[in-house]
Parts: sequence; structure tokens; C-alpha cells
Amino acid sequence: MTVAGLSESQLLERIFPRLDAGPAAAESLILGPGDDAAIVASPDGRTVLSIDTQVADQDFRHQWNNGYRTTGYDVGWKAAAQNLSDINAMGARSTSLVVSLTMPPETPVAWVEDFADGITAGIRDLGATGCAVAGGDLGRGRELAVSVAILGTLDGKEPVLRSGARPGDTVALAGTVGRAAAGLALLESDTGFRDLSAGQRDLMDTQCRPRPPLAAGPAARDAGASAMMDISDGLVRDGNRLAAASHAVLNLNPAALRELTGPLLPASDLLGTDPMLWVLGGGEDHGLLATFPQDVQLPPGFTAIGSVEAPAPTDSTGVKIAGRPADTVGWDHFAD
Ligand SMILES: [Mg+2]
Repeated sequence: MTVAGLSESQLLERIFPRLDAGPAAAESLILGPGDDAAIVASPDGRTVLSIDTQVADQDFRHQWNNGYRTTGYDVGWKAAAQNLSDINAMGARSTSLVVSLTMPPETPVAWVEDFADGITAGIRDLGATGCAVAGGDLGRGRELAVSVAILGTLDGKEPVLRSGARPGDTVALAGTVGRAAAGLALLESDTGFRDLSAGQRDLMDTQCRPRPPLAAGPAARDAGASAMMDISDGLVRDGNRLAAASHAVLNLNPAALRELTGPLLPASDLLGTDPMLWVLGGGEDHGLLATFPQDVQLPPGFTAIGSVEAPAPTDSTGVKIAGRPADTVGWDHFAD
């Protein structure tokens, strides 16, 4: 059956029971789905707010070159993960989200149910157990598009902004980097997805269902992180943004970067790609890039990858690798 065969209320009846993220989530929800608007608790007096949209054939393909078909579960999980990650990157904790799903009439009802399951599973499995699904909107359109708006709380603490990195700080990374990009390359390759090894399949799964390190954001805040953001567009591009906001240089250590290529080898060996390109340019794992004052012990999950420096008077801000601008040099120089 397709969604064209059901009214909106009939479809909602099928989805609502699947959106229960558990008892901890219910606590932040004063009034849940079913009325004109939801009511959520905001004990902190401030609300962290973000929104993110995925559009079919722009942000994902229904059918990939390697034969894999994107499931509703994948799309729901990723929509939740991307948004949970943005709240995490502020050093905050997600409390509720609302979902807008626009879809063509030929979309199977089972796909929509699977989508709802993916959102709930993403919230639970990634550990955002206090995040409720407060409601949503279903609409018809030519293309499938998903928007999630998300709210979070700072629990009385201060947020971690992009602008606080200072010379001498340690640059550190939590979560993974480059895996979603390696997975994307596998999805677009000619090797059928059923023929992938476990390690390769893992990379493909990171592209379809990313796993942002949600405990690491508040942990970094509590440890005294000076600046933070999540990596959604790549270590160098996002690092350049953090560096610009802080008016600083992030000087990365090539040996530390090389360490990050290990998990990518199952894909780079198959495809003949330099895995360092994925480490530096790959987004969508939603790892955390943070800076910490030198005397701070890095919280669990964070690895040092470089240090913050003041830009020379005539120099610009941005990411460098062993002192050379990361945008303008190849990575091969740093292999040894
Ligand atoms: Mg972000």
C-alpha cells in the first residue's frame, strides 16, 4: 500500500506509536503529538535550537550504484543523528525534535513506518534518551524531503562556541572521521554491496546511519573545551570555519592524521583512493572537533591531533598540516 491510499490522520495513527523514544524522553514532553502544537519543558530558561533538511537525490540516493537501496530506517536515523549532533556540538543535550516529511504519493506506507522506526532507533541507540519526538508534519510533494528541527538544553552550563580557541590550546577529535566518505565511495562503486567485507560494510553503514559521539559534547563542555563544532563538511573545511571564528590557525599533526586512516583501508585498498583525502575532506561522520586549554586533561573519547597557533601578522587563519596550509598542499608530503 502507498501513502496515497491513506488519509493524513490514518497515516499518523500508524506512525505515532513508533515515535515513543522511552520514559526519559517523555519527561521533557508536557504535551506530545496530537494537538495543534506540542509543549516541551525548558527548565534552563534558554533553548538550543537547530534545523537540518535532507532531500532525495541531493543528500542521498534511493538507489546506489552498488545496488544498495536506502531504507526509510536509514533516512530517519540520519535525520535524527545529524540534528542530535548539532546540539551535541554546542555542549548541549537534546530534549525534543519535530519532523516534517514530504513525500511522493507512491511512497509505500511501510517505508514511512520504517522511517519512524529509524528516528526512534537513532535517538535511543546514540544515547539521546532524553530526546522526545514532539510531533511532525506529513505532506505530499514531487520529491522526498525530510526536515528535523531540534531543541536542546545547556543544563545550566555555558555553551561551547566556535570562537573560543586560543594559541597554545590542544586540537582534539572525538568520534570518527572519513568513514562516511569512504562509505559513500563504496556506495557509488561498482562492487556490489553484498560482496563487501565486514570492514567495508561498516564504512557504508556509517554513511547511511552515522554515529555521532553524543556523550562527548557535554563531556567536552564540562572539561573546559574552549571551542567546538561537529564535522559535517570535512575536517579541513569545518576546521577552517572554527579557525576563522577564533581568528587562529589549527596546526594539525600529520602522524596523528595518518592514524585516522586505519579504519578506511578496507575501502581505500579496494578503490585505490588515498585514505587521507577522506580523513581531511570527508564529512557526515559527525565527529567533534574541539580545542582545549593545554592544562586540561582530554575527556574520554578525544584524541589530540594538533595545536592552536596565532596567525602570523600577514597570514590568514585556517587549518595547517605541519605548518603548511592544508588547502594548498598534497598530503603525500606527510606520509613519512
Ligand atoms: Mg554542525
